[in-house]
Amino acid sequence: MSDKPHQNLAIIGHVDHGKSTLVGRLLFETGSVPDHVIEQYREEAESKGKSGFEFAYVMDNLAEERERGVTIDIAHQRFDTDKYYFTIVDTPGHRDFVKNMITGASQADHAVLVVAADDGVAPQTREHVFLARTLGIDELIVAVNKMDVVDYSESDYKAVVSEVKELLGQVRFDTDDARFIPISAFEGDNVAEPSEHMSWFDGPTILEALNDLPEPQPPTDAPLRVPIQDVYTISGIGTVPVGRVETGMLKNGMDVVFNPSGARGEVKTIEMHHEEVDQAGPGDNVGFNVRGVGKDDIRRGDVAGEASNPPRIAETFKAQIVVMQHPSVITAGYTPVLHAHTAQVAVTFETIDAKLDPKTGEVAEENPDFIKSGDAAIVTLRPQKPLSIEVAGEIPELGSFAVRDMGQTIAAGKVLEITD
Ligand code: GDP
Repeated sequence: MSDKPHQNLAIIGHVDHGKSTLVGRLLFETGSVPDHVIEQYREEAESKGKSGFEFAYVMDNLAEERERGVTIDIAHQRFDTDKYYFTIVDTPGHRDFVKNMITGASQADHAVLVVAADDGVAPQTREHVFLARTLGIDELIVAVNKMDVVDYSESDYKAVVSEVKELLGQVRFDTDDARFIPISAFEGDNVAEPSEHMSWFDGPTILEALNDLPEPQPPTDAPLRVPIQDVYTISGIGTVPVGRVETGMLKNGMDVVFNPSGARGEVKTIEMHHEEVDQAGPGDNVGFNVRGVGKDDIRRGDVAGEASNPPRIAETFKAQIVVMQHPSVITAGYTPVLHAHTAQVAVTFETIDAKLDPKTGEVAEENPDFIKSGDAAIVTLRPQKPLSIEVAGEIPELGSFAVRDMGQTIAAGKVLEITD
């Protein structure tokens, strides 16, 4: 592992706009994928009559490896710049990408938005930009990809840039010019090396722009919150809840409480990467043992926090949501499934309080009869079972959620207020 500061990076954008190719190219150019592996993918691609797919293959293979194995929901694709080491969170195109992004399984610090020069803003460009905003990503690099397809045309580039700027304006992202970059992920233009085909462009490459991103500040001073992923029984130790520290510090000897289950006790041991440690902080995946807490006292979806500042439990809460896709309309009484951190619980839309103007975020209509795809709204939600969740303004890491139904992500939201 590198001792450079760490950044979690999401690659977002419409299907086929080149996300996988860009990731493959980044891994390749930074030496994270050896030449002979790329060579092997190239042969494989050619033999299937799919020449040119070698970079996308890098991604597919990494995805397969993940499916075969491990408990963790994140694909670990890493590369370095001078200043940082980056982990690409999740695989673009992965079925649960959107859900994982919302529930924090793949919490990203920053994102690269890929928009194909020959297609411009497309439905998922819009969806992912809305999502990035809702989730509090505020640094976006926009890669206008496939410049080779439009003969490296400056006017085509400018047309796409102005389309994207309009979209970003709608969701109040202010991205300066420096963060728009014309690239060809396929040919390598402006990814690691400045392009020879676009003398009209004097901005940074993708790697330079990534290297210039601000350093994320880990929320070590926030209240402790550890959403529980699994609960194991390990001989010689006992019950070991496992999860990732989202905020604050988990320390030996601390009194912790698991909500909503309510079990509590003193932290006896903390283990990370198979080694005992005295404390763990944001981003650390830990297993820990708590005096007096047994396997049946806690479950996945609980959140551990310090007993003096316990995780909140919501019976109802007000939230701001964006409806991403729903085949018809959402009315009061609708009961899909809410996913927040590691919890999943049926949730009823108790009232639809207001529809918001997507441009200004201001109330456009009070108590609308329904909301539909593309709408932003304020709603009151009632989980059907106790749920631990936080107000986004207080602990953002635990304040966002996804709404799923029929195998799809219907909406993304953040908690404004816990009402009882
Ligand atoms: P994703 O769905 O966004 O991950 O898109 P892919 O990376 O799978 O790319 C979709 C298709 O576009 C593949 O055929 C790629 O080879 C092709 N492609 C991606 N980037 C470029 C590019 O810069 N130039 C050209 N000509 N084709 C590209």
